Amino acid sequence: MSAKGIMISVVIPLYNEEGSLPELTERLHSVLASLAQGRYEILYIDDGSTDTSLQILTKEATNDNRVKVLSFQRNQGKSSALDIGFRHAQGEFVITMDADLQDDPDELPNLIAKLREGYDLVSGWKKKRYDPISKTLPSKLFNYVTSKASGIRLHDFNCGLKAYRQAVVKALRVYGEMHRYLPALAHWMGFRVTELPVTHHARQHGVSKFGASRFVKGYLDLLTVLFTTRFAKRPLHLFGTSGSLLCLSGFLILAYLTIGWLLDSLYFASHVPLTLFGILLIIVGIQLVIMGLLGELIVRNTLEAQTEYIMKKEINIS
Ligand code: UDP
Ligand code: MG
Repeated sequence: MSAKGIMISVVIPLYNEEGSLPELTERLHSVLASLAQGRYEILYIDDGSTDTSLQILTKEATNDNRVKVLSFQRNQGKSSALDIGFRHAQGEFVITMDADLQDDPDELPNLIAKLREGYDLVSGWKKKRYDPISKTLPSKLFNYVTSKASGIRLHDFNCGLKAYRQAVVKALRVYGEMHRYLPALAHWMGFRVTELPVTHHARQHGVSKFGASRFVKGYLDLLTVLFTTRFAKRPLHLFGTSGSLLCLSGFLILAYLTIGWLLDSLYFASHVPLTLFGILLIIVGIQLVIMGLLGELIVRNTLEAQTEYIMKKEINIS
């Protein structure tokens, strides 16, 4: 660490948060003044707000050039806002947080301290949460499934408050609704991920921006995450295993029926449903295997999938 200290970027996606912005900016300036000795940027991503958010931010950015603003022409979603924020963030440490003051600026020093312990990503954990039950209950289920599927044990994947080393944010590509899975994605890329309990507050101004559709989208994106990270380079491992197992079960059933038929010529006739089931298993199984093989062919032909590596270090490489 240089004597001047490390630069910190705070990346904040926002959509119609005029009620919270003035207080948020003020509190961030005061926390960051001591934490980063003045070397920081507050990067607001206005996700197509239709209220006065952009006017407020424009004024704040004029007063202090450490406040930076990127504004989408239309609402693109939180993931896209984070993505563009990550591309522009210049700090060695990058913090993301929501703009609605549900995340507490006073947690920044704790997150940074955890990064300094050697972690690459520190994910906030809203241990005591102030949200309606219609939110907390599905969220528990979501976190359980994601935790099981991803193989990384976290209580709260979707906390807006997170801290990253620069290498992580430059490696992550956030699209769709992927912002929910960033710790899992980083974990698979080989980064060190941990979590830290953070204080959480009830929303003071405005309304939540995520409706019921987030469940469907979240589920579909989990499939994408699993597929693109775990199996993108070896689709046959996914389809081949299940397909072969189905085929094998089908064969066993038919073999069993055939033995029965050899002993008793009316055996098939009295086992029509089981016969059909055996045939169904074989047909579906073969289709899955073929799908896996086709996937392999596609992967082999896509240069990008073969050359996308995240490097830790390159020496004397230009
Ligand atoms: N947000 C955004 N674009 C959207 C939806 C939300 O930038 O399309 C921002 C929102 O302004 C807030 C953060 O993402 O800063 C989290 O949203 P919200 O507080 O509505 O989610 P919740 O806390 O209810 O899960
Ligand atoms: Mg919120």
